[in-house]
Amino acid sequence: MNKLAQLDRQFVWHPFTQMRDWLQREPIVIAEGRGAILRDIHGREYLDANASIWTNLHGHNHPQINAAIRRQLAKIAHSSALGLANEPASLLAAKLVKTANPHSALRVPRLNKVFFSDDGSTALEVALKLAYEFARRAGRNKQPAFLSLEGAYHGDTVGAVALGHIDLFHRSYSGLLFKTDKVMSPYCYRCPFNRAKPERADAREYRKCHWECIGKVEQNFSAQRKKGNSYAAFVFEPLIQGAAGMIPQPPGWLKRATDIARGHGTLLIADEVMTGFGRTGGPNSGLRTPDSEPVFASHQEGLQPDFLCLAKGLTGGYLPMAATLTTQDIFNAFLGRYDEFKTFFHGHSYTANQLGASAALASLEILQSPESIRARQGLERNLQEELQTLWTLPNVGDIRQVGLMAGIELVKNWRTREPFGLRERAGIRVCEAMARRGVLTRPIGSVIVLMPPYCATRTQVRRMVAALGDSVRTAFGQDTR
Ligand SMILES: *Cc1c(COP(=O)(O)O)cnc(C)c1O
Repeated sequence: MNKLAQLDRQFVWHPFTQMRDWLQREPIVIAEGRGAILRDIHGREYLDANASIWTNLHGHNHPQINAAIRRQLAKIAHSSALGLANEPASLLAAKLVKTANPHSALRVPRLNKVFFSDDGSTALEVALKLAYEFARRAGRNKQPAFLSLEGAYHGDTVGAVALGHIDLFHRSYSGLLFKTDKVMSPYCYRCPFNRAKPERADAREYRKCHWECIGKVEQNFSAQRKKGNSYAAFVFEPLIQGAAGMIPQPPGWLKRATDIARGHGTLLIADEVMTGFGRTGGPNSGLRTPDSEPVFASHQEGLQPDFLCLAKGLTGGYLPMAATLTTQDIFNAFLGRYDEFKTFFHGHSYTANQLGASAALASLEILQSPESIRARQGLERNLQEELQTLWTLPNVGDIRQVGLMAGIELVKNWRTREPFGLRERAGIRVCEAMARRGVLTRPIGSVIVLMPPYCATRTQVRRMVAALGDSVRTAFGQDTR
């Protein structure tokens, strides 16, 4: 076995990984990357079909981002944001505020303050603590409570875990957590209120229901109001829940659900750690012009949250950095004389890191260039066309595409929607078979995620989808070749 692989097996403990399985084989050791391609130490090439766990936007080794980091590195890598300002972080904060408040429509409230941190979990911790303290100081809630969606995942730090509702990840730690409420998420494919028989299409398109999921949101808020303690904040991923299983919301859900929350005086925390930075594609209807291409998912339904949490794609997938954007109202609640101790006592050593901020500035510039916008529109179409080929597979139950990402839910039989048990490792088996075909991604249970970097070519997208189709055939014994 290769020396590096050996060292890994001897010393490294991998995240979200059953290490006993890991230790039974030689790991893929990545040495290089370029565009949508990763190359291992043996020179074998793979397509990065989940954008390195949803972080990468424009491809690996991007000359513009590389150059921006090099330029910054020649000046300084890091100085503290505790007591000091710096050049790229100031520029980035201004750029984020501009991007988060697009001119095209009236956006209320205005998001004009940026709190930097290091990753998605910490971006959520910041929003959570600010919303909690704001609610207390405003005297609205003595015991501020939070509402999030069924199956929600908002990160792995303890506060973020408390907002999550994935039993498999979260149950063991329940003793460490504060209680939060959950509300039905609009999972059309497996919705008990959807009376439609399975069809060979995205379940959102042929669903038969009366928006019972919105009724459930209404019920949660009314019940909370009866207790005389309206929710401090409603936390959600806009348009699609990622780690919950790539669960997209039917058009209109987001606006309806958040209107209810606002009507109850509840703050909105949009977790755009996955959905942000163009991932959710363009508007679904009407004219698509280059400057109408939204950067954030919330804006696609005309929603402006009180907190916008950003991480994964912020630096284009280069460096760990996060930002929590919020409003002047929230900011003002923490202003006062020093000895009133209203300060937000929170922060991290690497907050507002210069290398991360310069990578983010370069990434945003690429993102807003006409070439990138055209490439994203092309990728969205290519992905849509290629995914159609998977409907012939009886083990494909639902194909859910939102913009430049898709979740393919595997089932035992599409006519009955019969699910695979977790123990059958259906998703893992398919992803292992895909890796043997040179395509890398990770499953969520029985859902296979495709989330290519924006630079992925038509041919590369075709190879990703073909590998997925062939691997489903291999894994479930219908290999006809
Ligand atoms: C990945 C993710 C997080 C956590 O981000 P980390 O950088 O892994 O801490 C939070 N929310 C969503 C929606 C995510 O996809």
